[in-house]
Amino acid sequence: MYRYPGSTFKEVLESHITISDYDVAVKSESTSTVTKTAAGLGSKNGVYSTNGVHELLECPVCTSLMYPPIHQCPNGHTLCSNCKVRVHNCCPTCRYDLGNIRCLALEKVAESLELPCTYQSFGCHDIFPYYSKLKHEQHCRFRPYNCPYAGSECSITGDIPTLVAHLKDDHKVDMHDGCTFNHRYVKSNPHEVENATWMLTVFNCFGRQFCLHFEAFQLGMAPVYMAFLRFMGDDNDSKKFSYSLEVGANGRKLIWQGIPRSIRDSHRKVRDSQDGLIIQRNLALYFSGGDRQELKLRVTGRIWKEE
Ligand SMILES: [Zn+2]
Ligand SMILES: [Zn+2]
Ligand SMILES: [Zn+2]
Ligand SMILES: [Zn+2]
Repeated sequence: MYRYPGSTFKEVLESHITISDYDVAVKSESTSTVTKTAAGLGSKNGVYSTNGVHELLECPVCTSLMYPPIHQCPNGHTLCSNCKVRVHNCCPTCRYDLGNIRCLALEKVAESLELPCTYQSFGCHDIFPYYSKLKHEQHCRFRPYNCPYAGSECSITGDIPTLVAHLKDDHKVDMHDGCTFNHRYVKSNPHEVENATWMLTVFNCFGRQFCLHFEAFQLGMAPVYMAFLRFMGDDNDSKKFSYSLEVGANGRKLIWQGIPRSIRDSHRKVRDSQDGLIIQRNLALYFSGGDRQELKLRVTGRIWKEE
């Protein structure tokens, strides 16, 4: 009946060991499941990342994935090369001087990993060797687009249907169906030239969306107006379309024909490359008629598909 305190202790210790063994068993089972799924997705030679290894490759400071050179402190704490500079060579975990120690083992482990593209949830189902994943993601056709609305600090990103809804609901942009347009731009004080889009219109044609920008800015010393079209999609698709713009009055006419630019190119980049219809202010005021106190431009245009 009497138990030695020692035997009680032993019992507790044993049951603890049993529990932790069970833990390990469950973990390795789930790991093998992940590997199987990856093999089903077409993973060839590499080791599909399991969460544990993936976490090891996350920089503890900035939480982004680490790429060579991966650094470590004398106590083995790792961090990425960007953060190494930022923490002034002092290990953020143990405060030891970082020195210049590479973590070659981790770099090698990374080399054997395969990871899914970051834009998996947007529809990309490809899996890449660790070191070529970043390069793919820079060009992945599923990567989200930036909001094409110019002149604002809008940080919304998304696929095209998301952005079309966002332009309509949040920026109150005009939406038009059809491939021809006839727009009037009226401005009562044309001598103020702000670097701003005066008007953005979205056209829905051929089942795709196009953004027509009309804006005023200073080109060198000269105030100009510019109209150009951007395509809501990738560059290789934008080349399947052409567009023309016309503006004029009193028997004079300016005509521009071009290819819409993908919204992958920033609004600023397109504007600065002057890839659109440019109207000098003097000419714009002449086209407006009247006493040059009001800008009244009629811009007509057409979008067509190249065969
Ligand atoms: Zn970092
Ligand atoms: Zn450390
Ligand atoms: Zn991708
Ligand atoms: Zn926006």
